[in-house]
Amino acid sequence: MPPPRPLLLLDVDGPLNPYHADPDSRPPGYRPWRAEPHWASGPVEVWLNRAHGERLRALPFDLVWATTWQDCANRWIGPALGLPPLPFVALPGPAVWRPDDTSPKTWPLVAWAAGRPFAWVDDDIGEADRAYVAARHAGPALLRRVHPGRGLVEADFALLSAWAAGLCGGGGGPGG
Ligand SMILES: [Mg+2]
Repeated sequence: MPPPRPLLLLDVDGPLNPYHADPDSRPPGYRPWRAEPHWASGPVEVWLNRAHGERLRALPFDLVWATTWQDCANRWIGPALGLPPLPFVALPGPAVWRPDDTSPKTWPLVAWAAGRPFAWVDDDIGEADRAYVAARHAGPALLRRVHPGRGLVEADFALLSAWAAGLCGGGGGPGG
């Protein structure tokens, strides 16, 4: 049996919704979408690039939501991108302070992956997160910080593909 494919842990705000872009000069390919996630008091506008859905599906990963949108991503984000319903990692609600300065997502993501190789794309990855993953995650991991003003770009897709290909050859490692 072939080994399971690596996981791609997907943040929404930043990689898929470049919320930090200048409203007058957003990156090309993005359109506004209206969403009503559970955590908002009313409708919110996100900017999404529908082409990202196909690009993500073509990658040799199993896609997983790793976002404070949690299951709401399956209702409001996935359909806009043409993605099927995806599993999601349960995350703490409001941001909680971590004594090790990691993101509130890092501990749950590492626990959820349970040693399985994963790549994580997020706009909020720092050195503490890299250190935690290196110390606590038994398998290969790639932590890719995405600029929240640009969202996922060609270099991100290329890196993800190359990293996954390296896994098949027995490589991997902590990555960057
Ligand atoms: Mg984010």
